[in-house]
Amino acid sequence: MGEKRQDYISWDEYFMGVAMLSGMRSKDPNTQVGACIVSQDNKILSMGYNGFPKGCDDDEFPWARTGESNETKYPFVTHAELNAILNYRGGSLEGAKIYVALFPCNECAKAIIQAGLKTVVYASDKYADTAATLASKRMFRAAGVELVPYLHTGRKIELEV
Ligand SMILES: [Zn+2]
Repeated sequence: MGEKRQDYISWDEYFMGVAMLSGMRSKDPNTQVGACIVSQDNKILSMGYNGFPKGCDDDEFPWARTGESNETKYPFVTHAELNAILNYRGGSLEGAKIYVALFPCNECAKAIIQAGLKTVVYASDKYADTAATLASKRMFRAAGVELVPYLHTGRKIELEV
């Protein structure tokens, strides 16, 4: 009997890869973020990326980052983590893990905690010093959510589609 192949991707690479692939669906010209929710026994439950709510046309709503509040994307865009939570229609997410490209903001942290997610695996924490991220971490700590920095393996995953 032959032996199994050895260069298969790890669970962490798989789920973070799916999160990053989801982010590639985003129409946001500046920030593309993806998220992947996984059960305790490593089944993918949901995915999401940052974008406008259903019915809010990507060509009509603004993508700008500066200007009058309602001329920017900020009042309208739904973050990847919240979309992943809301996209799940299968019941409870209690105890699940979420893989995210970027450390969750305070609004997503609230949703993650209230949905019962217990672990956040994040690939980047580049806004660690911002008030939103500090607020997130304070809430996660208080709620007992485990925060796990993703260990980058440097593996390049190439797909021809
Ligand atoms: Zn967020």
